[in-house]
Amino acid sequence: MRRRLATRRFDPLTDQVNLHPRDPVRAYIGLGANLGDARRTVLAAIDSLAGLPGSRLVARSGLYWSAPLEATGPDFVNAVIALQTSLEAHEMLLQLQQIETAAGRLRPYRNAPRTLDLDLLLYGTACINSPHLQVPHPRMFERAFVLLPLAEIAPELVSSGQLAALEGQRIKPMVRS
Ligand code: AMP
Repeated sequence: MRRRLATRRFDPLTDQVNLHPRDPVRAYIGLGANLGDARRTVLAAIDSLAGLPGSRLVARSGLYWSAPLEATGPDFVNAVIALQTSLEAHEMLLQLQQIETAAGRLRPYRNAPRTLDLDLLLYGTACINSPHLQVPHPRMFERAFVLLPLAEIAPELVSSGQLAALEGQRIKPMVRS
């Protein structure tokens, strides 16, 4: 028998958070960091994500170095993971923001260097367009630091044409990941 987990479901129409059971969904999350010990921060964040309630880590890409894109500061460390999760998408976003805050994330200005950035890239096949959450992430297909690690763990989700379009962006796998 499939176990169902009661999770809080956010209803954007009523602005309410309710207890609601739901079936697990495959969610893809992009991670990036370019301040402090970025590699360590990303690895710790993967551990935190794997421990989220009602969630199980099913895949993790290697780590990549990428040049800042629409951002400033040193090169980023990036990765993408897949979670099988019973969390509702807005609840997942809240959890991502809590992990960012716990890692010391500040938002002094738009696109500032960041200790940790977590993006909900895909949530099953859902299309979400609420005030606080857009899924699929609206810029994911413009970013090599998302598509390369995503293609590593879910090649069926990324076409060779999409990868070829981003060839000019500087990104390389981390040797020790
Ligand atoms: P950032 O400062 O780049 O971390 O952007 C965070 C903001 O983007 C927050 O206000 C979120 O509500 C919003 N946002 C919208 N869609 C997404 C998404 N798919 N993943 C993460 N943040 C999102």
